[in-house]
Amino acid sequence: MSRKEGRNLRIALIHVMQETNTFNPLLTTLADFANVAFLEGELMLSRVDPNGPTAGCIDVINSSEFDIQVVPILRADAQSGGRLSSETLSELCRIIQLGLGDGTEFDGLMVFLHGAASADGFDDVEGEVLSAIRQVAKRHIPIALMLDHHANVTHKMMDQVDLLMAFRTQPHDPYETARDLTKIALEIFSKKITPTMAWKKIPMITHQEQFLTASGPMKEWFDLARRFEAEGKALSISLFPMQPWLDVSEAGWSVVVVTDNDQTAAQEIAVELANHAWSKRGQFMVLENMAVTDAIVFADDPEQGKILLSDTGDSVLGGSPGDSTVILEALLAREMQHNSLVPITDPVAARQLASSQIGEMVTLNLGGWSNSFYSPIQVTGRVKAIREGAVFLQGLPQGSVDMGKSAILEVGNVSILVTEFSGVGGIHPDVYRFFDVEPNDFKMFVMKTASNFQYMREITTKFVRVATPGPTQSDVQSLPWSRIPRPMFPLDILEGWSA
Ligand SMILES: [Zn+2]
Repeated sequence: MSRKEGRNLRIALIHVMQETNTFNPLLTTLADFANVAFLEGELMLSRVDPNGPTAGCIDVINSSEFDIQVVPILRADAQSGGRLSSETLSELCRIIQLGLGDGTEFDGLMVFLHGAASADGFDDVEGEVLSAIRQVAKRHIPIALMLDHHANVTHKMMDQVDLLMAFRTQPHDPYETARDLTKIALEIFSKKITPTMAWKKIPMITHQEQFLTASGPMKEWFDLARRFEAEGKALSISLFPMQPWLDVSEAGWSVVVVTDNDQTAAQEIAVELANHAWSKRGQFMVLENMAVTDAIVFADDPEQGKILLSDTGDSVLGGSPGDSTVILEALLAREMQHNSLVPITDPVAARQLASSQIGEMVTLNLGGWSNSFYSPIQVTGRVKAIREGAVFLQGLPQGSVDMGKSAILEVGNVSILVTEFSGVGGIHPDVYRFFDVEPNDFKMFVMKTASNFQYMREITTKFVRVATPGPTQSDVQSLPWSRIPRPMFPLDILEGWSA
């Protein structure tokens, strides 16, 4: 960083993001982080993805009045999935502690975490990571924390941070959030302001279908927080509609309010926003999905343009493995007039296809290998293309994704993308262009997401949420809960609650 007028500040950067789906039984390991990003020390700054939080933070640092030395510690990003193995969690904590040394040299820490990560034996990964940081960075060193707004905020997290800010939009805005967080953090690190925080937990979870912040009750709730900020009532307000596949002991929605040393105001705003969400709980539960057969018939209708079929139960961005066969089986069982693209994760099938010849006819079992929500199916098709390695995806916060060994298998007019790793579940057209397959030439697209439709928007007309079972299914009431605190809306009758 260049020399500037004013104080010198020394700031560490720590970034660990994985969203856990506790209904996915597959453990997440260091290899899963390596597939997206695992960059220790200075390597962290060798790959700054333009839409990621580090870019937002660095841009503010570069234009600040302070002379700032940035100390990159670790960037570890993994695709959403099952709980981290306990070895993975301890290795992440070990690297962070090693990088921080004795911690005394820092004026502040910028920490970018997801907030909904769990590990084998640890419900609250972020609480553990922050505790590991606090073991070396003593209490007087301020920590500014960024979280995904689908986080589960816990006591252990709140006890250790001085400033917290969550994403403001879904689809998410990590660059902008980290940028705005850093602006406030620099005021704290340079001792210009003394923030105080209040927070409220709300005993509710709701399904994913009203999670977009561009419409409906979520927009109304988020708009209210932005209005309070614009009116100068708080430095920052974070709303947390927790992602609904997290069966952990402190689960639930929450609100966190940061003010400049006004605890009463922070408390009042947190209460008001928590009560607002609670009062809209019925609206948050409105479903907009279609049964599988109805959805594919609708998508096949020539009058309907190009249709995205959202496989809501098997959303890889929500932590499902991407191996559901439910929509694929329906497409193959029915004589569809139009062609379709379907992604599926299957390491065994992907490796088998990668060792075959282009044009070869192969018969193999596909999908349904990871859990009991759905089953494998047998298909016979022609190998159209084979690839391996990382593909850069424009606009994706993590920049690129490695699908491992992968192939396109054509079964009639259904083209199946079979990948060794879950990748991004076919949400981006360049995933297919990597195989010289042009998505524009197709009528229907199965996508393993229930909310990230933005990358396909230019080539599709409409999206349909399909009511499929799986670790990310919309129906939260029929999931096998065991650890979540009770009573919890909508699992229990909970009248008369108020913040
Ligand atoms: Zn999220």
